[in-house]
Amino acid sequence: MSGGRAGNLEKPTEKCGVVGASLAGRDAARPLYYSLYALQHRGQESAGIVTHDGFQQHSHVEMGLVGDAFGEDDIDGLAGSAGIGHVRYPTAGSVDKSCAQPFTVSFKSGSLALSHNGNLVNSDEIRDELAGKGHAFTSDGDTEVIAHDLARNLLEEDLIRAVKRTMNRIHGSYSLAIMHDDTVLGVRDPEGNRPLVIGEVEDGYVVASESAAIDTIDGELVRDVRPGELVVLQPDGEGFDTYQLVERERTAHCFFEHVYFARPDSVIDGSLVYEVRRELGRKLWEESGIETDVVMPVPDSGRAFASGYAEAAQEDGSDVEFAEGMMKNRYVGRTFIMPTQDERERAVRLKLNPIKSTVEGRTVTLIDDSIVRGTTSTQLVQLLKDCGAEEVHMRIGAPPIVAPCYMGINMATRGELIASDKSVGDIRDAIDADSLAYLSKEAIAESLETEKGDLCLGCVTGEYPYDIDDEETDRDVTRPVIEGASSDD
Ligand code: AMP
Repeated sequence: MSGGRAGNLEKPTEKCGVVGASLAGRDAARPLYYSLYALQHRGQESAGIVTHDGFQQHSHVEMGLVGDAFGEDDIDGLAGSAGIGHVRYPTAGSVDKSCAQPFTVSFKSGSLALSHNGNLVNSDEIRDELAGKGHAFTSDGDTEVIAHDLARNLLEEDLIRAVKRTMNRIHGSYSLAIMHDDTVLGVRDPEGNRPLVIGEVEDGYVVASESAAIDTIDGELVRDVRPGELVVLQPDGEGFDTYQLVERERTAHCFFEHVYFARPDSVIDGSLVYEVRRELGRKLWEESGIETDVVMPVPDSGRAFASGYAEAAQEDGSDVEFAEGMMKNRYVGRTFIMPTQDERERAVRLKLNPIKSTVEGRTVTLIDDSIVRGTTSTQLVQLLKDCGAEEVHMRIGAPPIVAPCYMGINMATRGELIASDKSVGDIRDAIDADSLAYLSKEAIAESLETEKGDLCLGCVTGEYPYDIDDEETDRDVTRPVIEGASSDD
């Protein structure tokens, strides 16, 4: 959801949450609103819902958190039993409503609304082409490019063929909730980079970025949307139809969804995220366990890893204690989006405070999911030592992040990533830990019960499953297609 390929290299990309619902006899707005609450961790910059009452669209899109963006009147005004919603992730610079979603467009044969999670790598090309044909764009986002391309195809084709044609033109990551008039669709990119699931509620069906959104509205997870699949929710809430429109030889599921982004209580591609994180923690012990008096997580991101790590250690006969050695102030926003290093450092101190009795005079293993710039770990090692820890050993539940994400995650630029030009030993020295170890890529693939080749590991290998300017790709980007992907089919 940022600009296209060339722009990707400078702009931070975004992770977001999408949802769509088609219900039998009640308005979709309220369940969509609750679902967006459940997806708030995927985006805090803006929130929006667009519904359709069979005659026209109703839209409410605002900057800010879901709870701030909607009042009772706003929800009451969103009539119709079909609708889609979106939460957008904050970026360091832009706080621009033109990029807030769902994005809407009206055209000769109807209306479209689109919610997008992911990032296209060829949107500039398509934008230029469509602009040349007279399409006027109001934002620099790639979501608008998808909307215009689809609207254009809908003038010539039926819905299914039009979506297929658009899927064959756009490249990159996209999980989409789309509403064409009052028909709600879910689409997942052919590599399945971002998650998308189907759920059943009492009187209808939903698609959502994560199953936690379905739990929140008392629904049942049906299954993941398959990579390259289109799901069409029946407008009467009776069921859904699916079409495998594009198929690739390999998937490129983002491993970082499991490591950091997704909620631990969500099931993604068949795995409960919490269990994956615990398994990663167990593997971390197997690969680089160290005897210390106490193991503690960086709250909240390291918690499931640390519990798996401590459990595996105890099974191995270690008498390490598992403790919460740090308390989090939940009212402090994410350190990550603070624009300056100084502010980021201050925010870590505001956010986390050690519990002295757990730490004083003891050797400590501190566990987190990832190191990005190194700000958090540097600050925390110092804090624990200031509190009297004798030794602080850092263990990380992911491999070193060496390269940026172009596929929908707001990470950091290459120069800001501490591991982009430092060895593990150099990073250990930089964060002043007594020892530092990361998890292997093999352990990630094993814990996800998949092959490395079916994961997007771009941020830890620097090789991407997509064709991104000036970057290595780990696969044949002539994009082998198994069935039905010719662009005019
Ligand atoms: P850093 O302090 O820059 O090394 O960032 C590491 C911390 O940020 C860890 O505690 C992670 O849980 C968290 N983190 C990792 N990736 C992201 C992200 N894309 N957005 C926000 N926080 C993140």
